[in-house]
Amino acid sequence: MRSSEVIIVGGGPAGSSAARSLKRAGVEVLVLDRERFPRLKLCAGWITPEVVRELEMDIDEYPHRLLTFPRLKVHYGRLSLPVPCVQHSIRRFEWDAWLLERSGAPVEQHNVREVVADGDGFCVDGEYRCRYLIGAGGTRCPVYRNLFREVNPRAHQLQIVTLEHEIEYDWRDGDCHLWFCDEGLPGYSWYVPKESGWLNVGIGGYAERIKSAGQDIKTHWAHFAAKLDGGLTRGAHYDPSGYSYFLRGRVDVVRRGNAFITGDAAGLASRDLGEGIGPAIRSGLRAAAAILHGAPYELDDVTGMSVASIARSMLTRAARPLAPHGRRRASNGGPAHGLRHGNQ
Ligand SMILES: Cc1cc2nc3c(=O)[nH]c(=O)nc-3n(C[C@H](O)[C@H](O)[C@H](O)COP(=O)(O)OP(=O)(O)OC[C@H]3O[C@@H](n4cnc5c(N)ncnc54)[C@H](O)[C@@H]3O)c2cc1C
Repeated sequence: MRSSEVIIVGGGPAGSSAARSLKRAGVEVLVLDRERFPRLKLCAGWITPEVVRELEMDIDEYPHRLLTFPRLKVHYGRLSLPVPCVQHSIRRFEWDAWLLERSGAPVEQHNVREVVADGDGFCVDGEYRCRYLIGAGGTRCPVYRNLFREVNPRAHQLQIVTLEHEIEYDWRDGDCHLWFCDEGLPGYSWYVPKESGWLNVGIGGYAERIKSAGQDIKTHWAHFAAKLDGGLTRGAHYDPSGYSYFLRGRVDVVRRGNAFITGDAAGLASRDLGEGIGPAIRSGLRAAAAILHGAPYELDDVTGMSVASIARSMLTRAARPLAPHGRRRASNGGPAHGLRHGNQ
């Protein structure tokens, strides 16, 4: 049986943030993930300036694709509004692997199934033993399933269903577009360009509301794909995949003894825009702080309203206009209207 002081199940943003903090403090930590990194993660890959700061990321040094948006284009019915602010896009395929490697923690590919309390620690699948256990395995996290589900059931009215596809595409419009409530979708659809000819498009909405309106997500996708084909991505072909996660509800029990749940495992994404990366990172850092310093593990304030974060970045942008430097052409020759590196 392999032993480690801390085992983290899941190497996404929650897991890698906790791992980095613990490793830097000299704690023995092991990350278990069922996938081999780099791995596909369905996500638009929009990150906020807060995320960049909290991760102590120097975007000039970041070795993969990162695009800075000097505005968001928000659409509601016939209304279209440019919102000047500073936001970024990355590719999760690259970014998650980079974060995990940067953590310095050893990673083993292992699909965790069973977690049981064992003396003053935990036993994982009869193969691993640890004193502290961090559940960072996303929506279907086995730590949540084995230790938390009964005491902390998820609110089905907060379940989001999504369909999305990230493709290599020579985009012409470098703005990030968001369409709210299009064709009655109880949610929004997005067009998020990535640096050097990549693009993520998708839709997400409340599962129960879609069902109770007698609709289904695939019909909404068909409408969205037709809209894109009529303008922004003429001729592009999509083969979308689905994933589901939970927006922030009451999250009563996030720690049981030496076991913690973080990120999507705890259901922390923002209620207004389904932004889950920031809350995942914050909760991962807090779990590490609880282990390192005995700090209380409380997550009340890790999820804010995403529109408040965007408003803050509007103020930053007003105070420090983005300089027109750092523009990069897409590697395939297409113009990159977004800024490669801008103010954070
Ligand atoms: C379509 C879509 C678009 C989104 N867009 C955005 C966005 O643009 N910006 C934003 O902030 N948020 C977005 N989100 C939410 C965001 O992706 C998540 O909130 C965030 O990834 C949560 O991070 P995490 O570390 O908790 O979990 P994850 O990133 O899901 O990582 C969990 C890890 O656990 C591993 N794992 C799972 N099960 C096991 C197991 N049994 N054993 C071992 N390992 C396991 C997985 O392989 C994975 O690597 C989006 C979500 C979806 C579905």
